[in-house]
Amino acid sequence: MSKVYQKPTKFQTKLFINGKFVDGALKKTIPVINPATEELICEIAEATEQDVELAIDAAEASFPIWSKLPQRDRTEYLLKLASLLEANKEEFIALESLDNGKPLEGATFDINDVIGHLRYYAGWADKITGKSFSSLDQQIFYTRREPYGVVGLISPWNFPLMMAEWKYAPALAAGNCIVLKPSEVTPLTVLRLCELVNEAGFPPGVFNVVPGYGHVAGVAITHSKRISKISFTGSSFVGRKILEASSQTNLKKVVLELGGKSPVVVFPDADLDKAAEVAWYGCMFNMGQSCDAGTRLFVHEDVYDKLLQKLKEYEQNVVIGDSFEVQNSNHGPLVSKLQFDRVMSYITHAKEVEKLQCFMGGERWGNKGYFIKPTIFINVDDNSKLAREEIFGPVLVVLKPWKTFDEVIKRANDTNYGLAAYAVTQNAGNVEKFVREVKAGSFYINQGALSAHQMPFGGYKESGFGKDNGEEGLLEYTQLKSVYYSLPNPMV
Ligand code: NAD
Repeated sequence: MSKVYQKPTKFQTKLFINGKFVDGALKKTIPVINPATEELICEIAEATEQDVELAIDAAEASFPIWSKLPQRDRTEYLLKLASLLEANKEEFIALESLDNGKPLEGATFDINDVIGHLRYYAGWADKITGKSFSSLDQQIFYTRREPYGVVGLISPWNFPLMMAEWKYAPALAAGNCIVLKPSEVTPLTVLRLCELVNEAGFPPGVFNVVPGYGHVAGVAITHSKRISKISFTGSSFVGRKILEASSQTNLKKVVLELGGKSPVVVFPDADLDKAAEVAWYGCMFNMGQSCDAGTRLFVHEDVYDKLLQKLKEYEQNVVIGDSFEVQNSNHGPLVSKLQFDRVMSYITHAKEVEKLQCFMGGERWGNKGYFIKPTIFINVDDNSKLAREEIFGPVLVVLKPWKTFDEVIKRANDTNYGLAAYAVTQNAGNVEKFVREVKAGSFYINQGALSAHQMPFGGYKESGFGKDNGEEGLLEYTQLKSVYYSLPNPMV
């Protein structure tokens, strides 16, 4: 990337409640760390339970106004927000890169996705429909879709602005007001966005942001009886806690977008250049911190060695470093010390306990920042800890080669997760059998992961339930009434 980006120096650090930037009620703060340098970027206000309550108050008060607007007005607000974001795009790209550590190229991908996605859902605001059914002459049967009211949105750190926007855009388009808790690890782009929300003229209270710790602000949202819908993206561990909170309170409806351990299956007829590209980026994109990363690579025995050699070529093109220091960096740090330590502990376990064969990487890069080299272990047994658990770092596990199609389908399905599955083959019959028999929510055939706005995204098995994106993602933020209507006067 030849473009030069200025390293951001000014940050919005306050909570955003009822259209105002405010300190937290307890005046506590959370440090935000630059993962490339380990230096403090800034301190943000910490939202605690009292702040979440105030945010819910504001959202409740605004709901009658927002939900009763002509739908076209909601479209216009969201379009205005998208245009403001576009006008400030370079600042947002730099801010996302600084806060999360992702290379500028990755941050550019994210912010472009957010702008397009906002426009996509802006267009849905006046297209929410019920159905009418044929019935007796004197009766009308119909359904009507309505917003929930105040919805709670809890998002992770891997695609900070994008994962938040995937939720607030459809929620607002459908007429809900939101209380959003971005990850405390990467809150800066969402907080800066709140300034644009005001600039776009949203009525106060429609859009509230309460960055805080999961066990404090997150718990306050999930336990509130005034919230009847939660949309969550994050780990399966926290997903279970959110379900528990729902069952202990008001049985709020829940969408869970959780973790993954997605298989990549390379067939003997595959174009091996394509297969190497899919395998490499499928895992290493965003330093492996993608829920739908292809982290279990199954290669047919006939092409196993050849494919490994091609993966070596990708290693030559890796440029590691802080995007603001190293031009064309394409591999940044992991997001935090916690995540760095977690991933390193898997690598240490692989080497020292399981004695796995490390094909490349397997160590920290440099001595400052949370950088880990792209790492590949080969000839790994399906029962290895590395093959079974979500690592969420740049660690590709190449399983022992496969021989038969039925065998590899069984092995690909041998996981608690089911978010995505990848296949590389030139045979349409292979593709059809693969798609029918592998249990996953998204399939990427002869290509890396993609998220088209119109395509629903969500998992099978312990990768969660409910969908983001597409019409299905919009309908998650509506509830349905069925109306049986006997006409008061007989028809003549
Ligand atoms: P996480 O589960 O630790 O945190 C996610 C969010 O939940 C954060 O905002 C956090 O503060 C909050 N949280 C933590 N504990 C909470 C609690 N008890 N109650 C309420 N909220 C709480 O996840 P993470 O580490 O931020 O993100 C990585 C995980 O997210 C990975 O497992 C990844 O696979 C998953 N992910 C899934 C998708 C998807 O669409 N399926 C997309 C991106 C990331």
